[in-house]
Amino acid sequence: MTTFNVTLPSGATWTPTFVAALDENKCIGCGRCFKVCPRGVLELVGLDEEGEHIHLEGDDEDDEYERKVMTIAHKELCIGCTACAKICPKKCYTHAAATV
Ligand code: SF4
Ligand code: SF4
Repeated sequence: MTTFNVTLPSGATWTPTFVAALDENKCIGCGRCFKVCPRGVLELVGLDEEGEHIHLEGDDEDDEYERKVMTIAHKELCIGCTACAKICPKKCYTHAAATV
């Protein structure tokens, strides 16, 4: 297996690194990464006492969850731009190159 690389118009090689993990323990649910992701990869969810994810419905302000955290809902849509990691104030993200 080799690392997946992209050849840019300039001829230079670029290695995209795709979202691999998001540390829920560090996440403060600020939503900055969600706003910059161009691909709809991320989703804000509630986290209950047992650490279970609770789907948030619109403006539902139910108290079933302790706090909100970001999750990787559609990893397969990621294009490896790393915008999420660059804007995250808590360094929650881990990215990795793909292999082919
Ligand atoms: S690397 Fe880019 S496309 Fe992938 S989750 Fe982060 S912001 Fe979205
Ligand atoms: S930018 Fe970082 S701290 Fe804020 S919601 Fe995203 S992962 Fe969590």
